[in-house]
Amino acid sequence: MRISIEKTKQPKKRPTEKELADIAFGTTFTDHMLLIDYNEGRGWHDARIVPYGPLSLQPASTCLHYGQLIFEGLKAYRARGGSLVMFRPDQNMARMNSSCERMCIPKIDEREFAEAIAKLVETDEEWVPSLPATSLYIRPFIISNDAFLGVHPSSSYMFIVILCPVGAYYKEGLAPVKIYVEDEYVRAVKGGTGFAKCAGNYAASLKSQVEASEKGYSQVLWLDGVERRNIEEVGAMNVFFVIDGEITTPELNGSILPGITRKSVIELARSWNVPVAERRIAIDELAAAHSEGKVSEAFGAGTAAVISPIGEMKWKNAVMRFNDGKIGEISQRLYDEITGIQTGAREDKFGWVHKIK
Ligand SMILES: *Cc1c(COP(=O)(O)O)cnc(C)c1O
Repeated sequence: MRISIEKTKQPKKRPTEKELADIAFGTTFTDHMLLIDYNEGRGWHDARIVPYGPLSLQPASTCLHYGQLIFEGLKAYRARGGSLVMFRPDQNMARMNSSCERMCIPKIDEREFAEAIAKLVETDEEWVPSLPATSLYIRPFIISNDAFLGVHPSSSYMFIVILCPVGAYYKEGLAPVKIYVEDEYVRAVKGGTGFAKCAGNYAASLKSQVEASEKGYSQVLWLDGVERRNIEEVGAMNVFFVIDGEITTPELNGSILPGITRKSVIELARSWNVPVAERRIAIDELAAAHSEGKVSEAFGAGTAAVISPIGEMKWKNAVMRFNDGKIGEISQRLYDEITGIQTGAREDKFGWVHKIK
């Protein structure tokens, strides 16, 4: 794919390493963005890196009305020795195509689009922070772009990638979070769009998130949409429990987002000969196992925080505390190994790290 590059004439002042390390997630953007257009008959065309700035859209653009819009999230790192790397971009591109398929968006060429993203990261290379636990968050997304108020798949689209440097998610070690088990609202149902990273899923989750936050909880745990009994996931993370020494996580059932961190956790744990079960876990079963003292750890897994220990979970009138509200041994080991692989401090036995330069 040919990519044209138009460099900005007004580069922003690049924050210092220290300022970058303190930046809140998703608030600061780099100097450039990547755009690729799609039109029926022409396919994806005109890949270009241009100065970061506002988009021009018709008010009738279908993405603004019916939400034919998907996104991805991955990270680039400054690795040991100064090289520039991305973590498992092939997995993000494959998932993007799975979201495209569900939302009637034309597929992308996974390899070519990953290379175009790498080119953008290289263009804004100086924005990749290098202090421990910092990274460059990459947000690719696709919007439908026909100016037409009919409800049907658009014939034109835009693939866009923006970048933001992110500081350490945890300033002082991995801090366990408090989770509210949502038993009124649901996130997704089988046959719906739960497995796709589409914008509407997140709009639908805000109400529950706001109410949980008012009660003092940082995230919600979703139960299945039919029985409101089986555990699905937490906010924008997949969820794991260590039950009787076995790492246990809900199986992918169509309504759960198939996380790449989830997949990495499972692959790593199995390589260590730690047993992993992907299965249905009912909330009452978890509560019973907890009261028998069998649940030693709980954690969420996702690109932003990598591993997020769960200290406490509230379900109806019951409060479950895990590992005395402290990070568990397995959670810490997974965090250290994954972040170590990402930054080149540990051996990349699985070939997860994609070198840009
Ligand atoms: C993105 C996301 C995840 C985590 O996926 P990763 O690929 O590990 O970042 C989990 N659940 C939801 C709802 C998500 O949007």
